[in-house]
Amino acid sequence: MMDKENKKDIRSLSVEELRDFFIKNSHQAFRGNQVYKWLWQKGIHKFEGMTNLSKYARELLKKHFVINHVAIDFQQKSKDGTIKNTVRLFDKFIVESVLIPTATRTTACVSSQVGCSLDCKFCATAKIKRMRNLNMDEIYDQVKAMDQQSRYYYGRPLSNIVFMGMGEPLMNYKNMIASIEKITQPDGLGISPSRITVSTSGIPKMIMKMADDGVKFGLAVSLHSARQSVREQLMPFAKKFPLNELVTSIQYWYEKTSKPVTYEYIVWKKINDKKEDIDALVDLCKSTPCKVNLIEYNPIGENEFLQADNEAISDYRSALETNRITATVRRSRGKDIDAACGQLANKSI
Ligand code: SAH
Repeated sequence: MMDKENKKDIRSLSVEELRDFFIKNSHQAFRGNQVYKWLWQKGIHKFEGMTNLSKYARELLKKHFVINHVAIDFQQKSKDGTIKNTVRLFDKFIVESVLIPTATRTTACVSSQVGCSLDCKFCATAKIKRMRNLNMDEIYDQVKAMDQQSRYYYGRPLSNIVFMGMGEPLMNYKNMIASIEKITQPDGLGISPSRITVSTSGIPKMIMKMADDGVKFGLAVSLHSARQSVREQLMPFAKKFPLNELVTSIQYWYEKTSKPVTYEYIVWKKINDKKEDIDALVDLCKSTPCKVNLIEYNPIGENEFLQADNEAISDYRSALETNRITATVRRSRGKDIDAACGQLANKSI
């Protein structure tokens, strides 16, 4: 990534490349390690702040590089403690990320794209077209910033990370994977991959690729209906990725990773609240070990979607439990500040 003056973003360099840069410029290689630490562990945004480097070395870096970084333009705090961050990127695009505290955890929900190219009818982000993918460091920065917030406001580091903010992480595969590498490395944030979940709307080819790549994080799939005809209406792109292919890819994922998938599922009035919808879900769940997260619908303005009655949700729950499928009901967080799932749409700007 180059800026106007054709300077390279220094954070696109590996530690080896930084060491090489110093060697080529007649400095000792370990300077590269020092810079790497400033950039990734200390999260510094100005060359001046790299105080263990000589003034000359700092000027040299300035001549060749810029440090692209995100800035938190503002934070909104919900009554329930959820914090929504408006995150400005170096080229002025905005994404949002959300910190969600509970009694036992603090979870960071991160964005992977500016906007989204998918067309889920019930999601606010789908109303903004996809502008670009986030770079690896832009995803990492969101997590780093929320780790700091978590320590500051809640006195503990982040415990979990979910890729459930704006965008489809599997459509920004390379950068999503690279950001997780950095988040999990000891010289990054050292967070275990078992505490990270990537949520996808369901792209079979990419789910299989992830399984082949031997990733160690968890997978969530936004299912919302186990009936192809209904799912296609909710998520029109699902015509291209039919349920039978999705199920095959999830079976493959389980064979390779031994990790049960989590299905995210919203129950809407008159859309998927009938017995045949429940039966279809139970059937689909029997194909691979899984759990189902029944999530509350967060309204996104005028449309035909209405959260189903509690009765319908209980019917889902008991049908799943009768069939020994774990089901949880997820309550929304941060609704009062439009920070809940599917509500991220840069309303604040
Ligand atoms: N593109 C990815 C990740 C972003 S969406 C995916 O589809 O999984 C994160 C989760 O929020 C998904 O499960 C999505 O279905 C859900 N979601 C979208 N709009 C919502 C809304 N209005 N209310 C509740 N959940 C919503």
